[in-house]
Order: sequence, then structure tokens, then C-alpha cells
Amino acid sequence: MPVMPETRDERIGAPGDPGIQRGAAVTLSSRVRRVTAPNPGAMTGPGTNSYLVGAGGQWSVIDPGPADGGHLKALLEAAPGPIRYILVTHTHQDHSPGAAPLKAATGALLLGRTTPHRHWQDPTFAPERELQDNDRLTLAPGATLRVIHTPGHAGNHLCYLLEEERILFTGDHIIQGSTVVIDPPDGDMAAYIRSLESLLREDLDALAPGHGTLIPNPRAAIQALIRHRLRREAKVLSALPTSQPADLATLVRRVYDDVAPQLHPLAERSLLAHLIKLESDSRARRLADGWTAAS
Ligand SMILES: [Zn+2]
Repeated sequence: MPVMPETRDERIGAPGDPGIQRGAAVTLSSRVRRVTAPNPGAMTGPGTNSYLVGAGGQWSVIDPGPADGGHLKALLEAAPGPIRYILVTHTHQDHSPGAAPLKAATGALLLGRTTPHRHWQDPTFAPERELQDNDRLTLAPGATLRVIHTPGHAGNHLCYLLEEERILFTGDHIIQGSTVVIDPPDGDMAAYIRSLESLLREDLDALAPGHGTLIPNPRAAIQALIRHRLRREAKVLSALPTSQPADLATLVRRVYDDVAPQLHPLAERSLLAHLIKLESDSRARRLADGWTAAS
């Protein structure tokens, strides 16, 4: 569950990216190909991106996407060699259910992290091994992935850095053209912002998101996302009453007045995530019938 289309949606490709082509593999570099699943929609933007990453005769898939026969066939056809690993960024239903059938078809090792949460999760996900922050995987000679744990959108979210090309596969931590829903309790706004900040320490050339095209200038893109979330947080703070509590339905109209009303139920989830962060910062107070500013 990624998309909270509260920001302008730009579906134009980045330099070096021909744009989303559903059903066909797009070559992004000698080590990276993208196949976009046929699941476009309000929650998935142009569809979920599956990436083939590798070199020579050894390839891996990052995020096999939904368990869609046509998509998995397209992935198998686009793979220049046998698939050795299947990696997932997180286990939302648009990212990992294709893992089990792809594993059955290829015998590849399935790696990622499980989650104790149930909402919008893929219950079939069963990795051979739980990946840890800073794990390194040699996908092929000359294709090395480093695992970066990035909780926030989901507690089990991982990004993968292709060290030879400094491309970061960002799943739903960062997507192109929109922002992601932070849906408590699995979604955690404080962790999300910390995970964004941690990526500023990395030397990155491009972001390869779970939805949309390549994002150039990673540092500027990550800084803009942090600013966007902190601006929204400031708007939440200024909308909080000092006496009579306001409920989520009232607050969402004040805080997300730039978002179409039909998206307010989704926006309420991210609003709640902001409020929980502010509560833990002792800046908001939760009462039985709503929220106030902490005095
Ligand atoms: Zn997601």
C-alpha cells in the first residue's frame, strides 16, 4: 500500500529512463532491468516495479510484485540468466505475493523480513532467511547488494543498494511522483523520517522506486521528502486545538486541505502517524474524544 497522491504526479521518465512500459522489460543499466506489473491503480500508481539485478549468467529479482501469471512470465522472459535470489523490500500485497510462485518456477532463494502485522500484508511470505541491516549479498561477480533497514512505511522495510552503480532500490520507502501512506501501527512517522535521514549518509547516484521511474539527484529528493513531512507536521501542530479536542475527521480537513476529499480516509492514516509522533515528542495529547496540543 504505497500511494498517497498528495503531491503532484509526474509520470515523465528521468534522464536515462524511457518511462514506465507495462509488460515489457526496460533496460536501465547493464546490471538492472525493470518490469512493471499490470496492477496500476489509486494505491499503486503506474503499477509495482519488479527489478532484475545481476551480471553475466546470475540474476536476482527485487520485489516480484503480485502473484500475476502474466507478470511472472514477463519477468522470467526478461531475465538474461537463471534467477538465483528473490528479494523483497517489504511484504505489502502489491510487492511480495509473486515470490512463492516465482520461487516454485526457479528454485531461487527467497530473502527478506517477516512482520508481526496483518493489515494489507502478504500472509504467504516465507523467506529462507531474515535479512539484517548491512548484510551484503553477492548476486554475481560485479553485482553486490547491501541491505539497508528502513522502517517507517513498514517496520520490515528494506532498501537495497547496488554498490557498483550506487543505485538504491527503495521499494515504498521512496516512490516517484507521490508520497507514501504511513499507516500505524506498522507505519511509524518518527522511524520513517529517521530512515530518510539515514540515507543522506549514503553516496547515491539514483533511486529505483517500487512505483514510478528512476529518481535522479537522490540527495535533493530525500531532503525534499523530509521537508515535506516536517511541513505537514507543522501544519498538524498548528491545527491542534488548545482546549476542546478535535477528532481525526475534523483534523484531516484542516491539515489535508490540499488533498481531494475522497482521499481523506487514507490521509487520516498518515495524520494519525504524525499525531503519534507528536505525542511521543510531548507536543500533542490524545484524549478519549480527540486530540489537543500539549500545553
Ligand atoms: Zn507498501
